[in-house]
Amino acid sequence: MTAQPLALTHASVDRAAHHRLDEAWLAAAWSHPTTRVFVVSGGQVLVQDTDDGGTEIVMTPAFDAPETEMHRYFLGIDPEDGVRYFALQKDTLPGRMDQAARPAGLREVGGLLSPLQASLMVHAVALENWQRLHRFCSRCGERTVIAAAGHIRRCPACGAEHYPRTDPAVIMLVTDEEDRALLGRQVHWPEGRFSTLAGFVEPGESIEAAVRREVLEEAGVVVGEVEYVASQPWPFPSSLMLGFMAQATTATITVDGEEIHEARWFSREDLRAAFESGEVLPPFGISIAARLIELWYGKPLPRPGSTPR
Ligand SMILES: [Zn+2]
Repeated sequence: MTAQPLALTHASVDRAAHHRLDEAWLAAAWSHPTTRVFVVSGGQVLVQDTDDGGTEIVMTPAFDAPETEMHRYFLGIDPEDGVRYFALQKDTLPGRMDQAARPAGLREVGGLLSPLQASLMVHAVALENWQRLHRFCSRCGERTVIAAAGHIRRCPACGAEHYPRTDPAVIMLVTDEEDRALLGRQVHWPEGRFSTLAGFVEPGESIEAAVRREVLEEAGVVVGEVEYVASQPWPFPSSLMLGFMAQATTATITVDGEEIHEARWFSREDLRAAFESGEVLPPFGISIAARLIELWYGKPLPRPGSTPR
């Protein structure tokens, strides 16, 4: 199956991590006329429509950007044209920069931006979430300060260095002997919203074991073989989704009722009919869940009301 690249997974920017501690280099890069800066605030950035019908992040040269040097994240260098990118973390997005500019989050525009801009945004949002939630030293409780162009927080009291945290989570499309797919509805999801099962990896656990444990806990189904497919950063606030295809060895479903309200086995025909009738809502567009279901389905998922094929 040919498929669009999975959203948010592009590594089209050279992160150039070796520059993060070089203050002189950072200062020169910051003030360079081709450098581009965007503001990130509460997981949102300003975006605008492009002439060709696309969507782009509103970026400015550094000299136009509001000055908050301490909340400046160096995101990397475009290997094609050498442009250096920074994000500025602010309490609010700048107002009235442009009538056409509007605030947007990653879920909304992550699949609309260019791969380069999407990778810059996911990096900036992930750093902002981490910075916001880790202001104090986990060793001694002192307030920490930002360092390494946004990629370290240092504790002035005990000297500890804290690095951005990423929480691994497994997400899996489980199939049975009849090649039906197991999809579940989380307790807080609306009626009709079904997707793959998922859960966090626990301390001391392999990711394969996490797949088997989560499926057993949430749906009561035993999983044998698991095969890694792909990963996707999901900074809401700090997950890394690790996608798997998993083979069930039992078929009886017993939902836990706490995380999963309902789970069902779908044949491809079941799913097509359920999507087209609107009985089941398609999974969220840019998520790896949609990709895993599509991988099993064998072609793009039908949409409500679409022509049966
Ligand atoms: Zn400390």
